[in-house]
Amino acid sequence: MTTLQDQLIARITAEGPISLADYMAECLLHPEYGYYTTATPFGAQGDFTTAPEISQMFGELIGLSLAQCWLDQGAPAPFTLAELGPGRGTLMADLLRATRGVPGFHAALQLHLVEASANLQKQQAEALAGYDVTWVDSVDELPRQPLFLVANEFFDALPIRQFVRDGEGWREKRLGLAEGALCFGLGPEAPQPALEHRLLDTKDDDLVELSPAAAPISASLAQCIARHGGAALIIDYGDWRSLGDTLQALKSHEPVDPLTSPGSADLTAHVDFEVLCSVAKGAGCAHSKVTPQGVFLERLGITDRARTLAAGLDGEALENLIAAHRRLTHPEEMGNLFKVLGLTPSTIAPPPGLNE
Ligand code: SAH
Repeated sequence: MTTLQDQLIARITAEGPISLADYMAECLLHPEYGYYTTATPFGAQGDFTTAPEISQMFGELIGLSLAQCWLDQGAPAPFTLAELGPGRGTLMADLLRATRGVPGFHAALQLHLVEASANLQKQQAEALAGYDVTWVDSVDELPRQPLFLVANEFFDALPIRQFVRDGEGWREKRLGLAEGALCFGLGPEAPQPALEHRLLDTKDDDLVELSPAAAPISASLAQCIARHGGAALIIDYGDWRSLGDTLQALKSHEPVDPLTSPGSADLTAHVDFEVLCSVAKGAGCAHSKVTPQGVFLERLGITDRARTLAAGLDGEALENLIAAHRRLTHPEEMGNLFKVLGLTPSTIAPPPGLNE
């Protein structure tokens, strides 16, 4: 039986070294061997846990923030409610449950999910049974109408390229072969127009990352929001401009070497929020401050929500709730590492939770 590793070695032998982005794309989304195609990544049994899998409070509060934006923009109908990379569909299920009481919201929404994995689409269909769901392959296929969108840990799963500074140019980190095994190497020095601005804040041998897909996706959803109204909440780990190697491979909640058994570990990289903001601005949107997740959730009332849920719990369930609240908000847990960015039309205030 051939493996993804065999296929990659055969490809590199035939074509020469490939970029890290090509490698990540194969590892994550290969139609037969890709990580999201075959694995059950999320939750305690999976390789990593995401915020919506930690507690229902996460999806609920995001839902209320987006629903308030929708009301503030005059409750447009119909509108698109969309999620990028919905995983098991947990966030959207919690969001929909929490917004049931918002008059007119459910009657007006048209639910669209952007999901590349057929395996995860199936799980999303189960989590959202009873709702009319449309799956699309890209943001460009979303209807031209008001768009209220959430993306949690989506941009960190997009393939990145890595470049090492060499004089006024860059050498790309690539995957080649050494003694028949996958290994990293550096390509020839060349100028990189997309990294022009990074010549100002880097020196020789510094490594910077570039996600080729992130900017076009941000531009596309920002164009839709600028033209038709709406809001986007983008939550991910990362910061304003990245420096250094942030590629991470996780398997069973432990870091592993990204080159061993391709397709069997989750591969992610920090998100460069500066890129998302600058292209969104260019497309006519306003962007909020890049706000720590803990601050965002506290402003939306996560502690009150936790108290309400706690009233009906005791013993282990109560302890789990307290631990979940801490995990989502505490600066030493996810509270600071994860950031939230809001996009709105240029005349409209940021979504609740991102407004100072
Ligand atoms: N938002 C979920 C899952 C995060 S994992 C949560 O918070 O639990 C990343 C998700 O993005 C998965 O659903 C994965 O299949 C999807 N994904 C990754 N790359 C994608 C791409 N290029 N297009 C569409 N979906 C993608």
